[in-house]
Amino acid sequence: MQKGVPINPVVTILGGGLAGSEAALQLAQRGVSVRLYEMRPKQQTPVHVGGDMAELVCSNSLKSLDASSASGSLKYELSVLGSELLRCALKTRVAAGGALAVDREAFARTVTQRIEEHPHIEVVRQEFTGLDSLISAGSPCIIATGPLTSSTLEQELVQLLGNESLAFYDAAAPIVEADSLDREKLFYQSRYEKNGADYLNAPLNQEQYNLFITELLKARRVIPREFENSELFQACQPIEEVARKGHDTLRFGALKPVGLIDPITQRRPWAVVQLRPENIQGSAFNLVGFQTNLAFSEQERVFRLIPGLEQAQFLRYGVMHRNTFIDSPRVLSRTFALKAHPVLRFAGQITGTEGYVEALASGLLAALNCYAEIQGFDPVILPEETLCGSLFAYATDPAQVNYQPLHVNYGILKPLEQPQKRKKERYAAYSARAKAAIDTFREQHANLGFLPTYPVPFLLP
Ligand SMILES: Cc1cc2nc3c(=O)[nH]c(=O)nc-3n(C[C@H](O)[C@H](O)[C@H](O)COP(=O)(O)OP(=O)(O)OC[C@H]3O[C@@H](n4cnc5c(N)ncnc54)[C@H](O)[C@@H]3O)c2cc1C
Repeated sequence: MQKGVPINPVVTILGGGLAGSEAALQLAQRGVSVRLYEMRPKQQTPVHVGGDMAELVCSNSLKSLDASSASGSLKYELSVLGSELLRCALKTRVAAGGALAVDREAFARTVTQRIEEHPHIEVVRQEFTGLDSLISAGSPCIIATGPLTSSTLEQELVQLLGNESLAFYDAAAPIVEADSLDREKLFYQSRYEKNGADYLNAPLNQEQYNLFITELLKARRVIPREFENSELFQACQPIEEVARKGHDTLRFGALKPVGLIDPITQRRPWAVVQLRPENIQGSAFNLVGFQTNLAFSEQERVFRLIPGLEQAQFLRYGVMHRNTFIDSPRVLSRTFALKAHPVLRFAGQITGTEGYVEALASGLLAALNCYAEIQGFDPVILPEETLCGSLFAYATDPAQVNYQPLHVNYGILKPLEQPQKRKKERYAAYSARAKAAIDTFREQHANLGFLPTYPVPFLLP
């Protein structure tokens, strides 16, 4: 396919990270001409160090290969859709137990070679600015400049989308799985019983509160990098910083009990942790006001001291770091095209999908839609039974308020037709359903010219 006459128009891709590189290869392999802008090595971000495409900025792990995990299911879907970067990751794999970890230099080099040698890809090594020119020319573009988008382009995005549609840091509270909560200890109620009983409340007595604060203050934190400090703390404070201001500060803030009566004691608790449903199904809850810099293992240790959360399973940990992302639920359509200027598409972490594999998945989706549009096909919307499809549906769901980045997890999937009580069976059922949905999707959309599928060495069948 790649040797034929290139298909016009040229698609401009901004950013040769995980999402941009996947999108470039997907389009080029379908015969579409691509112009890929990457500003490195001339201009670095605060965390990238080299000039290769798809540089992994932190861990070298692309997470679990366990077929029944959400992360493993996502990899299966990407292999069925013919992801080019997952293929490169499998080629450069290093031993890491049940995870897919890569030799980061070999991985980035392999992706760079594939891109630089591709006859349909022109690489432009400079910072891209000038979105207006692309819009006025009606020239298709995928913006994949990541969480550390250059400041000039970031300013252009502010002008295009408005300041309120762009965030510059994550301040996300943890999300826990609903089924892992001990409902005997929790109660549904809204403060002063206004607006229905939407919140799940965890009451703490004085002793429990004291222990929680003591352990919160002792817990190990992730120290933000220098470039993150100034922007971070103007917005909202991590819960451990608030606690440091005084033993009772949280009782007058995120953990205030006013307006709440514990139905068991018929009294106002000493303190209350509120949990807000994260989705319509009520399968996940976020801990209100718990944005934090605690290390992930410490979040588990300390937050499990909250009554009712002793066995809590974390679908997402709290994070706070520099991260430019757009308010996707309001500005993007289901195909990741900008509603106001559909010629522009977004992909990668800038859309608020978090994680290496999620970034390349959204690059793949943006490329499929770009290709479909060029060919006059219907928009490509992946089934919501799949991890990819549910992540993209979550990211573009206008019902989301206070949108925060999310990585794939089973909490965002549609509920099972036949609910499974035990976690192991539930995950296996989610995984089997996702597998069947993506296989059928590929069969039914042969016109999209999928690249060959390949096996991923899963640990479990
Ligand atoms: C500090 C940090 C650590 C992270 N650690 C992890 C982790 O361990 N595991 C994990 O799963 N996820 C992690 N993430 C989250 C995320 O998965 C990665 O950021 C991922 O690389 C996102 O992929 P991307 O393609 O969207 O962006 P990137 O991989 O960052 O690619 C964007 C590219 O765009 C280029 N660029 C920016 N502006 C311009 C411009 N104007 N013109 C041309 N080029 C431009 C950049 O140089 C970069 O190469 C981390 C994020 C950050 C910020």
